[in-house]
Amino acid sequence: MSAVTYEALPMRVVFGPGSLGRLGEETERLGLRRLLVLSTPGQRVLAERVAAVLGDHAVGIHDRARMHVPVHTVDGAAKAAAELVADGCVAAGGGSTVGLAKALALRAGLPYVALPTTYAGSEMTPVWGLTENARKRTGRDRAVLPRAVVYDPDLTSTVPASVAAASGLNAIAHAVEALYAPDGSPVVEAMAERGIRELAAALPTAPANELARASALEGAWLCGACLGATTMGLHHKLCHVLGGMLDLPHAKTHAVVLPYVAAFNLPAMPQADVAIRRALDVPDAADGLHDLAIRLGAPHSLADLGVERSQLDMVVEEALAAPYANPRPIHREDLVRLLDEMRRGCWR
Ligand code: NAD
Repeated sequence: MSAVTYEALPMRVVFGPGSLGRLGEETERLGLRRLLVLSTPGQRVLAERVAAVLGDHAVGIHDRARMHVPVHTVDGAAKAAAELVADGCVAAGGGSTVGLAKALALRAGLPYVALPTTYAGSEMTPVWGLTENARKRTGRDRAVLPRAVVYDPDLTSTVPASVAAASGLNAIAHAVEALYAPDGSPVVEAMAERGIRELAAALPTAPANELARASALEGAWLCGACLGATTMGLHHKLCHVLGGMLDLPHAKTHAVVLPYVAAFNLPAMPQADVAIRRALDVPDAADGLHDLAIRLGAPHSLADLGVERSQLDMVVEEALAAPYANPRPIHREDLVRLLDEMRRGCWR
């Protein structure tokens, strides 16, 4: 093993079917008595269920979480929390709701417990995002970590198949890039390989199947922890630029981009290639990722997401503007070719 620096994040995880019932123990342990429950408008029913579990310790529900954390949603949530004199939050939902809780933690110092309902893995990372004037800023800060994560696979039983597939592929992308990150380690390698294996095996039948639901959520936990521990490369950079500039759906963008960037990067990182092949039990890692996305019915191309040829030039400029870690140097012509193939869904 070559020189490695690894720093574990202070994460408390409660995992298991029915663990929503243990939420009260967790908030009690943290001394939180006036909790604001956060959700998207579509998950209001879940938020009400969570509030019922918290009983007198729930002071309100704020169901205004939205993808990419627009700054006005943080203003609204901060106002609601102040009016209700909340001393903490419960984020009941996927990456969008967890993203709102992170932004509140950053702005108002409000601690929160995450109750993830998709496989995006955001709850395991110190990465925050905020969108203002059509630009998404992101950063890393331990202040945005949840005080506890309660993973209850039963809560994922209602997740729409398209959300389950895209968020699961989003999580797999965290693990794939962690496997070739400059700050990787044996801990991350172990989590990444197992996370990819669990998710790839479970996603075709989760969320309907009980055992698959638990495996997929375990995979999401591990893959999220990989993102939390390492620096991401070309894949995450491209998704960030595409999502921010063209307002694309986050997880579906990851689903399209993942196999193309894997095919570009993996020849330069044979160890990562081997780990992904083992995890997927396939002879070719990039083909395996592509086939998985197809099997899950994920979108095939950026054109499926509404991207037009004329929009790609500005994406190339933005992606080249700031340097970032990637195992292979990226030249303009590589990026132009990759984006063109992704847009057309032209797999090798
Ligand atoms: P999401 O949270 O946006 O949810 C998508 C839709 O599915 C929403 O309408 C939501 O209400 C619904 N939904 C979610 N779970 C459900 C359930 N169990 N039952 C019924 N409906 C459900 O989707 P996501 O993919 O989890 O999150 C995407 C967001 O997460 C993006 O904004 C992305 O930037 C962020 N993200 C952040 C990180 C990080 O580390 N900061 C990591 C991954 C994703």
